[in-house]
Amino acid sequence: MIFGEELQKVAKILKESDYTIALTGAGISVPSGIPDFRSPGTGLWEKADPAKVGSIWGFMSNPKRFYNWIAPLVEKILQAEPNPAHLALTELQKMGLLREIITQNIDFLHEKAGSTDIIHLHGDISSGVCTGCGEEFPSDDFWPEVLNGEVPACPQCNNVVKPNVVLFGEPLPPGVLTQTWKAAEKAEAIIVVGSSLEVTPASNLPKVVHSNLGKVIIFNLGQTTSDPIAHVKITGDASEHLPRLIKVLKN
Ligand code: NAD
Repeated sequence: MIFGEELQKVAKILKESDYTIALTGAGISVPSGIPDFRSPGTGLWEKADPAKVGSIWGFMSNPKRFYNWIAPLVEKILQAEPNPAHLALTELQKMGLLREIITQNIDFLHEKAGSTDIIHLHGDISSGVCTGCGEEFPSDDFWPEVLNGEVPACPQCNNVVKPNVVLFGEPLPPGVLTQTWKAAEKAEAIIVVGSSLEVTPASNLPKVVHSNLGKVIIFNLGQTTSDPIAHVKITGDASEHLPRLIKVLKN
């Protein structure tokens, strides 16, 4: 079978590791119909520059442009269901072979797949905050307005509401960073799924595990910046290969 030997190697690493974590990026949700930022042809980078439109400065200077850009992504996220890659990670947790899932994604597909111990490095779209008075709002209060082409405003002070996702140029929430580094320091292995590893600090996680003599396993359609330190690299669709790994582990 194609990749059979590599998947056997991954299975061996997972069985020998006492602490394995996963890092997921936009690519794991592509088979669920949510486009990533960098894949050729479908990537959102090609339609607009997220570093500009999706930055905190881009948001504050032109919230209408930001919401017009993010609305199609949010619409897809709200409709999406987990795919076999998300379900395979849940299965690994149930088998006692995987601890934290650290995700760069702002969707909830790991939650929908029944996973636990999920760390959202970049926040998620389930809530928002007023940029004026700091009032918090659940997503039901403002995404319907955004999907109708409006810019959501705070009912108390009329300032614009910002979704609780980490925009380019914004710091990561300190609690989330601490949880992430604690997990990475303990990890004897890391499985990276669907991330180009071009965005820090997530891109540093495989390096931390590697420098502690842990094993780095990468599932990705294309290249990643940590390919040179990967013990096993499975190139292809993670929604096909991760379920194969479960079969190998159960045989
Ligand atoms: P990225 O766009 O930089 O990289 C995605 C990677 O996934 C690419 O290397 C691509 O080759 C790979 N890929 C695509 N389809 C795949 C598949 N079926 N199987 C395996 N690999 C596949 O994404 P990133 O590194 O996660 O970083 C971009 C940022 O974009 C993140 O911070 C994230 O917050 C945000 N984002 C999130 C979502 C989401 O929540 N689903 C969607 C788009 C962007």
